[in-house]
Amino acid sequence: MNDISENLKTVRGMIEKIAADFARDPSGVRLMAVSKMQPEESLRDALAAGQRLFGENKVQEAQQHWAGLRGEYSDIELHLIGPLQTNKAKDAVALFDMIQSVDRADIVKALAKEMKKQGRDVPCLIQVNTGEEPQKAGVLPKDLDELLTLCREEGIRITGLMCIPPADEPPALHFAFLRKLAYERDLRDLSMGMSADYEKAIPLGSTYVRIGTALFGDRSAAISAASSSAV
Ligand SMILES: *Cc1c(COP(=O)(O)O)cnc(C)c1O
Repeated sequence: MNDISENLKTVRGMIEKIAADFARDPSGVRLMAVSKMQPEESLRDALAAGQRLFGENKVQEAQQHWAGLRGEYSDIELHLIGPLQTNKAKDAVALFDMIQSVDRADIVKALAKEMKKQGRDVPCLIQVNTGEEPQKAGVLPKDLDELLTLCREEGIRITGLMCIPPADEPPALHFAFLRKLAYERDLRDLSMGMSADYEKAIPLGSTYVRIGTALFGDRSAAISAASSSAV
């Protein structure tokens, strides 16, 4: 028994309330359900509750999750939010409706090549490592313009920026910084805000909030429940 439908209502309600408080059109804040590591039952519950936009952080897991369900629901929208390897660019271009994790030159080139080959124009976001954390994906802020130029040259359509703030810093500082980087470059999409901090991201202009735990519960619980029921 889970409350995914209830959780969706709660989060959608929060988005609407915060948007109203900050004079934003709530339809400009899109709720992405992050379905990584979730069992199919949970994806089905979210679909039954009307959710259509989903985020995955691994290409292969996304294929396993959605190949079948997309046959049943024609209007599912899938975004990649995890790091991409060049050898997965082909599958990523074929599968995703948006790639939010573009962060380096070799990926830009691999995506451009595949989009041409497949005749697909997949809009992308550039992930920015706003905290300049060595272990984290994302382009450093100082290298953003060079990457944007390459994207333009290669014909990759960048509509905005994405970030994951450092765990130990106030997220609002990073959201405000990402917004500044985006608006200065005339980019309007801002993918920022997760379960713990989306309420702070919406006042700062977020257009995509990426929510996993607050909808589906703890991912480690989902895994142990799945493995114990498989025994
Ligand atoms: C897992 C993940 C999320 C969702 O995180 P929650 O804290 O479970 O809401 C959001 N964005 C990215 C990039 C993720 O990998």
